[in-house]
Amino acid sequence: MELGTLYLPVPVALAAVAALGYLVGRGRREADEEPSARSRRELRRAQHVAGELEKIAAKLRESLSAHNSRLLEFRQRVDRLSAVEAEAAFARLCDEAEEILKPTMRLAAELSAAQDELRQQSSNLMSFTETRTDPLTGVQNRRGLDDALSAQMALLHRYEVRFSLVLFDIDHFKQINDQRGHLRGDELLRNLAAKLDESARETDYVARYGGEEFVVVMPQTDLFGACIFAERMRKAVAQQLPLTVSGGVAEALDGDSAESLLARADEALYAAKAGGRNCVFCHDGRGVQPLCLEPSGT
Ligand code: GH3
Ligand code: MG
Ligand code: MG
Repeated sequence: MELGTLYLPVPVALAAVAALGYLVGRGRREADEEPSARSRRELRRAQHVAGELEKIAAKLRESLSAHNSRLLEFRQRVDRLSAVEAEAAFARLCDEAEEILKPTMRLAAELSAAQDELRQQSSNLMSFTETRTDPLTGVQNRRGLDDALSAQMALLHRYEVRFSLVLFDIDHFKQINDQRGHLRGDELLRNLAAKLDESARETDYVARYGGEEFVVVMPQTDLFGACIFAERMRKAVAQQLPLTVSGGVAEALDGDSAESLLARADEALYAAKAGGRNCVFCHDGRGVQPLCLEPSGT
């Protein structure tokens, strides 16, 4: 071995080799553990975004070509007017201008809607970039969540498109770390993120909110729908992972900001913790209540 030529004390060199081996092994393990499921899901999401962009482009092409032929006709009629007597020509020009105004305004409205849709799709595309990805779990980080929330808030305020979110927090995670070690703790965080990610819809956003807290943002979902998802996840986690989670659900309301919405979800989560953990509470804008989707005991 060439350790001597590196002028490193042998124990340090051996420790470095061991660390390298560990990292390579860990990288391989992660590659094995983060298998095709996530990439398949990401691929489906990318395909979905590409499909949406194609639809917007096709619609724009259609609108522009229809408008183009109207403009051509307008131009021909205006050209023909030059042969007509001046006063009559002016009156007809006014009519023609009125005629072309309506489709022009319609096109302007369509363009503005398309711009909003493009903004929404680019926010979906942003989630594929590294700066918005949590390195430990591969889901979105706080920045990705902030972007997703502002896009959803804009859609809510402009088009009244409803959305909800759930804030999950692992129960007694400190104890889990203490008893099983931080590496196992990290692995469990990855397992939980993967579970949320594969269970959420392609159009949902899964983000790591803090250390052991995750948020799922559900576009076009009301409080009831979000509660069903949250409860389904709570149960699945308790059955399939060696941990439990508590959840707080809230729906975005008129006049909400990302902060006020998250604050309501947090209040519901706090109530779920106080209510004994491994349960979901929701905030309906007036107050917090436990979820009663079916008889307890499950
Ligand atoms: P509760 O049921 O009230 O939520 O209890 P808790 O122990 O989960 O809550 P607390 O906020 O006291 O502790 C959170 C723990 O999460 C403490 C910290 O060590 C752990 N944690 C935060 N980030 C990470 C991480 O990246 N990896 C690991 N392994 N642990 C983390
Ligand atoms: Mg916490
Ligand atoms: Mg916790």
